[in-house]
Amino acid sequence: MTWPLAVALSGALLLGGCTGATDGPAGPAMTMGRPGVASPSAPPDPPVATPPRVEAPAPEPARFDRDAAHAVVERLAGGIGPREATSAEYRTAARWVARRLQALGYAVERQRVRVPAGVSWGVRVPAGATQNVVATPPGFRPDQPHRLIGAHLDTVPQAPGAEDNASGVGVLLELARIAAGQPPEVPVVLVAFGGEEPRGPGDALHHFGSQRMVATMPDEQRDALLGMLALDRVGVRAARVPVCHGGLGSDEVREQLVAAARRADVRVRRCENRASDHWSFEKAGVPAARLGSVPYPAYHTRLDLPDVVDPVQLGRTGRIALAWMRSAEERPVP
Ligand SMILES: [Zn+2]
Repeated sequence: MTWPLAVALSGALLLGGCTGATDGPAGPAMTMGRPGVASPSAPPDPPVATPPRVEAPAPEPARFDRDAAHAVVERLAGGIGPREATSAEYRTAARWVARRLQALGYAVERQRVRVPAGVSWGVRVPAGATQNVVATPPGFRPDQPHRLIGAHLDTVPQAPGAEDNASGVGVLLELARIAAGQPPEVPVVLVAFGGEEPRGPGDALHHFGSQRMVATMPDEQRDALLGMLALDRVGVRAARVPVCHGGLGSDEVREQLVAAARRADVRVRRCENRASDHWSFEKAGVPAARLGSVPYPAYHTRLDLPDVVDPVQLGRTGRIALAWMRSAEERPVP
């Protein structure tokens, strides 16, 4: 049972109980003989009052708040600044994200991830540890069908990372807020990944957090994972939101996102891209896709500041992801 429904039902039961108790003395339970059958010597039964029906009103579907998502960008990129995976600033950001998710009612775990020394976008970086912040909803069963939405929290050493990728984390936290209040039919795990940015050339030296997560997942959990969505660079303005997959495994999540965008009235373009955390899941056989990747001049520079992130674009991306998160479909409609 979902939390709001449980609350509404317990409220309805409580109200129903009070109504019955108030009606008791004058109601049919207090009359002699069989209710509804008048005996010649007894006065006629009073009319049987139908107890008022107490129905919880259907809640309005929550709307994606693009300004709340942008406030996260300002906090991470404007407040904390560059968040290289092994830095103190990364740990500060991870703690902040974990607290936000805990306050929404999620169980939050931090998964430690080792990363090697190397060169990240021209800057030497040390070996060390980073972490994934993993939030699961109350009652989560890893062996039951679920989805995963992730956004990387780390940056290259020289960039405050407003677009790359505080934008994705902003959308992630807003989806977390909505899912906490109105749990989707298919439960969703929310993850802020560490160590996405490269520490050298080649496919092994990036996406450390997501590679670690999918590699350490028990088989039954990976089998129950219906789809993974990476939110990465989702706030630079463009007429169409990029919807990408890696071109290796199933494109079903990408097609579900295209269908979700249609329902959300947002224009998209399909693309192929292996440069984010969806790729780790796709390589492991989990259907996965990415929203975002519009090119912009401040990419991986100190100018990747909150003003490059457009709240309108955050809203477009958020509405697509929300429509996907709320859908019950397990396979794309042909
Ligand atoms: Zn990124």
